[in-house]
Amino acid sequence: MLRMNLREAADTHPLVHLRHRVRVVDVGQDESGVSAASDSGERFRADLLIGADGHRSFVRSHVAPERPNADFAGYVIWLGMVEELKLSYPGPRPSRWEMLHSGESILFGIPAPGADGSTAPGRGRIGWAWYDKHSNPMLHEAGAVANGVVQHSVRPEDVPESILAMLEQEASQWSRPWRDAVLQSIADRNVLGTPIAEYVPLRLIAGRLVLVGNAAHVPTPMTGQGFDSSLLDAEALGRALRGADTTTAPHRLGDYDARLRDAQRLVESGKSFSRSYTAKESPQHGQKRGA
Ligand SMILES: Cc1cc2nc3c(=O)[nH]c(=O)nc-3n(C[C@H](O)[C@H](O)[C@H](O)COP(=O)(O)OP(=O)(O)OC[C@H]3O[C@@H](n4cnc5c(N)ncnc54)[C@H](O)[C@@H]3O)c2cc1C
Repeated sequence: MLRMNLREAADTHPLVHLRHRVRVVDVGQDESGVSAASDSGERFRADLLIGADGHRSFVRSHVAPERPNADFAGYVIWLGMVEELKLSYPGPRPSRWEMLHSGESILFGIPAPGADGSTAPGRGRIGWAWYDKHSNPMLHEAGAVANGVVQHSVRPEDVPESILAMLEQEASQWSRPWRDAVLQSIADRNVLGTPIAEYVPLRLIAGRLVLVGNAAHVPTPMTGQGFDSSLLDAEALGRALRGADTTTAPHRLGDYDARLRDAQRLVESGKSFSRSYTAKESPQHGQKRGA
């Protein structure tokens, strides 16, 4: 729904021109402006270039060349989402998200609207996110993590049967309906693996280049604030640039730089979770996985 609303706002704004399936492969700047080149050879020129290109940001490599990559945080999150209609758990639909702990495992359960936005009984979906720090060798084998950098997620069709069997075996530790949702996702072979990245920003601006969202900062999803803070970036940047023109725009970016401290704090708070989560090793768990 969010995406739909944003898309509608962009489509109806006279100054926004959306271009789809265009990959930026080069950026540059000089005293009078910035340029970007696409993989199809097009070149664009403007007063400013805003890098909103996510956790593997290309623009970041120009803003912070000394530290261009987000680090792998040391764990993966297995994700699934199933139609409530497919589940037969007893009792009413959960009304809010829940975080469950069991030994070293953490599971987020998320009641979500149906694809049509409906939250009527039986019409919604149940989502889950399972934190797992024991499957890192598999992530490296699949090329999802290389040299300490997250390269891509593990698509459902690429999740090994051994991982699905392990999740199935350990799902009994979770209460219903979350356990049912995990088991149904496994039965549907619809489990996505997202290796988690983290990036504490060094800076948000370099001349006429500026970063927002995950391009600027990558907090672990455990903070629950990655998307929110991306919107706060956009809002702060909009405020800083209100009424600016070609000459003043680059100077106005200084006001946006005030976001840096908040962004650093957010990622650091998530990193302390990641450190404590990946540091603990329970002997029972090791035995169970090894068996
Ligand atoms: C498992 C998980 C759970 C999460 N849960 C939450 C939560 O509960 N709450 C919350 O607030 N946040 C959450 N987040 C974080 C949230 O998803 C991100 O913070 C948010 O998506 C960042 O938005 P973005 O637009 O900066 O980057 P993205 O959503 O990654 O978008 C970047 C875009 O840039 C495009 N792109 C990349 N490179 C190029 C290029 N060279 N040229 C052109 N386009 C390019 C990509 O295709 C993509 O469309 C979660 C993240 C994960 C992984």
